[in-house]
Parts: sequence; structure tokens; C-alpha cells
Amino acid sequence: HNTAENHIFEADVARLLHMMVHSVYSDKDVFLRELISNAADASEKLRFEAIATPTLLANDPDSRITLSLDEEKRQLVVEDNGIGMSRDELIEALGTIARSGTRAFMERIEANKAGEGAQLIGQFGVGFYSCFMVAERVDVVSRRAGADEAWLWSSDGRGSYSVSPVDVVDSPSRGTRITLQLMEDAKTYTSRWSVERIVKEQSGHVPVPIKIIEKPGAEPIQLTDGTALWTRSKSDISTEEYTDFYRGISGQYDEPAVTVHFRAEGRHEYTALAFVPGSQPFDMFDPDRKGRMKLYVKRVFITDDTELMPRYLRFVRGLIDTADLPLNVSREMIQASPILAAIRKGVTSRVVAAIEKLAETDADAFIKFWENFGSVVKEGIYEDFERRSQLIALSRFRTTASNDGYRSLADYVKDAKQDQSAIYYLTGNSLDQLKASPQLEGFRARGIEVLLLTDSIDSFWVMNAPEFEGRTFKSITQGTADLAQFATPNDEAATKSETSADLESFIAFARETLAEQVSDVRASDRLTESAVCLVASEQGYDRQMEKILQGAGR
Ligand code: ADP
Ligand code: MG
Repeated sequence: HNTAENHIFEADVARLLHMMVHSVYSDKDVFLRELISNAADASEKLRFEAIATPTLLANDPDSRITLSLDEEKRQLVVEDNGIGMSRDELIEALGTIARSGTRAFMERIEANKAGEGAQLIGQFGVGFYSCFMVAERVDVVSRRAGADEAWLWSSDGRGSYSVSPVDVVDSPSRGTRITLQLMEDAKTYTSRWSVERIVKEQSGHVPVPIKIIEKPGAEPIQLTDGTALWTRSKSDISTEEYTDFYRGISGQYDEPAVTVHFRAEGRHEYTALAFVPGSQPFDMFDPDRKGRMKLYVKRVFITDDTELMPRYLRFVRGLIDTADLPLNVSREMIQASPILAAIRKGVTSRVVAAIEKLAETDADAFIKFWENFGSVVKEGIYEDFERRSQLIALSRFRTTASNDGYRSLADYVKDAKQDQSAIYYLTGNSLDQLKASPQLEGFRARGIEVLLLTDSIDSFWVMNAPEFEGRTFKSITQGTADLAQFATPNDEAATKSETSADLESFIAFARETLAEQVSDVRASDRLTESAVCLVASEQGYDRQMEKILQGAGR
């Protein structure tokens, strides 16, 4: 083509491609799932745009995805009749990295080349570029719905790609055709049986029917019918089907820790299918990360760009399908919709209840969940006023009594001292640092348990945490410790010196010398071994919070 323009891949794409091509990852099948999921997304986007512009569907209203195999040419073609891409969209979508988690993902792989890297590729799902694991050349011909021009994007995945116009007779009448020129050792992807097995395994629940054309000139054979899994009744759906569906919708390759599927009838009519992932998504702490719950209206995909879950459940994946919103609902309407607010509340309750049930029925699985998502769930203690007591009861903690395990507040209260009216805590950056803190000495000596809080979120929720079973939260680095009421094994040693004249004169001396640095110097029953420690005043912030605020430039 003399009209072909050459483009260099964005640096991050080049890095990702290099990783793909040199990947030692053995399960290369995932590329097909990625291409099929893009094809299905394109069909859903078209259906959505066609609500406002029905002419986009022309005389071809039914979505489909077709896989064509050619053993002789060693080619696999994935074609859809979805929304398609314009020239600019091709360059934007297939020359840069859009997914917010991808950078975090690459950093993690590069930091750990030999070890987990290979697994991570499969777990994460790396989108379109994964086809370069199996193809030495990829040609993408695309025609945007309603457009009278088509474009070819072509690359061998080695640093650059070309874009050129193609005659519309050589393109699908609408949508995208991706031709993979397979590597010598990837010819298994031209075998009907391998491809059929992979599709059923990975993409069996894609909501667009998938057909296969076994060889040039053959009739298409239907592989999946594209019915929406969530519309079927729960009792007809197996665990494997749920897992497949979860993998498709989450882009993760693990097992869901919790599956919630229900249909609400009554004031609002909707179906929700939600999953708590079995492992931590890479982009969980990415501030740009969007809610990954999809909104459907009567089985038409509307958006995944709106908060369908509260922020503290932002790891939940899945969808909500409702008949109560109009199909042409705008993004602004969605955000402000009281119907959606009610649905969101209903789904949140069910998800929290399912997590509570996991805590009751499978302690090990729950701890795994907590290690993955506990630091996020705790945000709910100050964000969700209505549910904060529930969330506090769900929380698990490292404490001075937890050894290698975790303790709930119920455990804490059960073992608390008789007159103990507070739940004591110590916040800091690491468990080892906290365990070595002199502030703990007096508590240890008296056998009083202290929560050891190391997530940055902890300093925030404890400040306005509700009472737990009549006990208030109290920082041990703040104010007086009031430990005198609790007996220690060697009480006399601990109290004797407090009244001595020596101590009085030392305190007077210290007050004078440190007048500029501290607001007061007091005798304390906090310590047993160490001579002195710093504490914060009764009002205001505790020591860790003071540090956080100083760090924030206050
Ligand atoms: P993601 O699907 O997570 O956005 P991908 O790497 O899989 O990331 O795809 C990148 C982008 O390329 C998509 O967001 C989409 O805009 C575009 N794209 C890929 N395949 C198709 C397709 N078959 N039809 C239309 N657009 C597509
Ligand atoms: Mg994709």
C-alpha cells in the first residue's frame, strides 16, 4: 500500500508486547477469550448506540461473533458485526494502553520475572495485545457502524503498526475482522476441536452467539447461543457455569470467593449477579479505577462507568439488569436516579450478607477474603453510616493476642478485663514496629489486649467508630492510660516509685527543659521497662494520625 501510514507503539504498549512475545506463559488460550470479549463488547456498544440511532443496525439487527479457521494458511479469523472502529479509534485503541490496571500489572510482572509473572498474565487478562502470544502478524479490518469507509490496522507486534484505508467491499459491512497469522507452534488454533473446547470453556456465557466456520467454504456451526446466564434460574446454574461467567466479566482467572445471584421483585424489579473475586485485582488502589459492575436495562448493556456499588465494595464484579429504567437513560440520569439508588442499596445489603455468611460458614475462606479486601471494607466503617456496626463486626484484626491469626471484636470483648470499658488500639506502619512499641508495655504486663492497626485507613475509621457492645475505641498513644485499675502480676514494683519525691523533681526538671517541645510531662502506668515515651493529648489526634497529617503537609 502506498497509502499506509506507519506508527510507533506508545512506550508502554511496546513493553507489554515485548512481554507477550517473550512470554513463557504456557496457557496461551487466553488470547481467544480476550478477542471474543472485545467482539461481544463491540456488539453491546452497538446495541446501545442503536437505541438512539436505529439506522445503525441497517438490515442486520442480530449480533454474532464468527470464528473462521484456515489450516492451510495457518490463520484464525475473529469477526464481529458490532460497533467497529474509525481510523482514529483504531489508532487510539490499538496503539495505546487504555486499561487503568495495565501499568500496575506490568510493573508487578517486571519486578518478578521468573516467579509469579507467568501466572499473572492468565489471571489478569491483558486484552487485545495478548494475540501476539500466538500470532506473528495481526490484521484488523474495521468499519464503524454507519460509516462508508473501512480501515486496516496491521502489525507484527515489534514496535510499530501501519494503518491504511481498505475498499469497503473487502471489509465487513459493519464491525471488525481480526486475522491472526499464527506462529508455527500455534497451529492448534486452526483445529475445530481445540477452538471449540476453548470457546466453551472460556467464553460459553458471552451474551452474543458464537459460530465457527471450520474451513474456507464450510457452513457456520453454532457453538454457543448467547443467552444471558443471569436470566436463568439459580437452581439450573452449576458452579462451573458461574465461575466461567465470573472469569468472563471480571477479566480474572481465579475462582470467585462469593457469588450472589438474585432476582428482586416488588417495588423494584431487577436481577443482580455479583462476585467477590478470589484474589486481589491489580488496580484495586488505583484512584482512577471505575466501578466494574455493569448496568443492563432489559438485557441491553448500558454502562460500566457508574458507581453501582459503594466505594468500599469496589472489588465486587458483576452486573445489575433492571426493567425499571428507560433504555435511553443517560449517564447523568443514572447518577441521579432514585431507582438506581434503591437498587444499589438492595444489592449492597445482599453482598454484605453473603460476606457475613462466609464468615460464619468458612473461617479460612473468610480470612483469605479479609487479607485481600479487608483494608477496603474498613473504609465503609466511616463511609456507610447505616452499616458501620455490621462492618465493624465483620472486621478482623492483628492484636497483641492474635499470634499468627486474626481476632474479631467479639473475640476481643469476650476476653476483655471485667471493668474494661475501652477497646484499645495502636496504629502504625508495620506490625513489627507496633509489636516493639514501648507504649504496649503496661498493657502487656496487665494482660490487656491491644489491636495493632497497620492499614492507613485505620487511623481514620477509629476516630469516629461507633461503640462495639458498649465499649469505645481508645488509642493507647493518646491521653492518660488509666491502667491503675487493672492489676499487674507484680503490682508493687509498678506503683511504688510513682509517689516518690525523686519522680516529682524529675518531672519538674523535664517540664522545664522540654517546655518548647512538649505540652506536659506526667508519670504513667503505660510503661514497665522503658523510661519515657511520647503520647498525644486527650483531645485531637493520636500519634499516628499526627504523623499522617504532618506527612500530608499540614
Ligand atoms: P479493553 O477491552 O479492556 O478495553 P483491550 O486491549 O481488549 O482492552 O481492547 C482495547 C480497545 O480496543 C477496546 O477498549 C476497544 O475500544 C477496542 N477494540 C478491540 N477489539 C474491538 C472490536 N472487536 N470492536 C471494536 N472495538 C474493539
Ligand atoms: Mg478487552
